Amino acid sequence: MKESGRKQGATSPCAACKLLRRRCATDCVFAPYFPADEPQKFANVHKVFGASNVNKMLQELPVHQRGDAVSSMVYEANARVRDPVYGCVGAISSLQQQVDVLQTQLALAQAEVIHMRMRQAASTSNLTVGSSDCTSPSPNKLVIPHSKSFFALDMVVDQTSFGESLWSC
Ligand SMILES: [Zn+2]
Repeated sequence: MKESGRKQGATSPCAACKLLRRRCATDCVFAPYFPADEPQKFANVHKVFGASNVNKMLQELPVHQRGDAVSSMVYEANARVRDPVYGCVGAISSLQQQVDVLQTQLALAQAEVIHMRMRQAASTSNLTVGSSDCTSPSPNKLVIPHSKSFFALDMVVDQTSFGESLWSC
């Protein structure tokens, strides 16, 4: 009995108990989520939420939900430390803006694809008419390689414009 008690006392306290300078009990509510080798994880959570509030929140939750709650609190606390005004709302709205910009780009690209397909359809019908004058064995073989190179060029142009706009915003 005494030996096991000594062993538990000898183990290093979790990051929370170390920061709060208290003894880390075997049933410490923080210990599973705030290991000693990640002191910053608890420091920010403590700064933003307060250790006693975190303690209360974890106690009120069933054990299987505590890990997710801690992840969410750590994320929110880190965001709040980085951006004291908006916290993770700042990150969410910036990502939402990116989504809006990318959706607009996608719609434009899709419209361009439709436009180019229509132009291609028009040009291939002209090409088959024009090539019938020349000595070609089959008009189909002439059309297929042309359409391939046309789309390959289209892909390259799309990727460069996508990359530029991504870095500029
Ligand atoms: Zn502890």
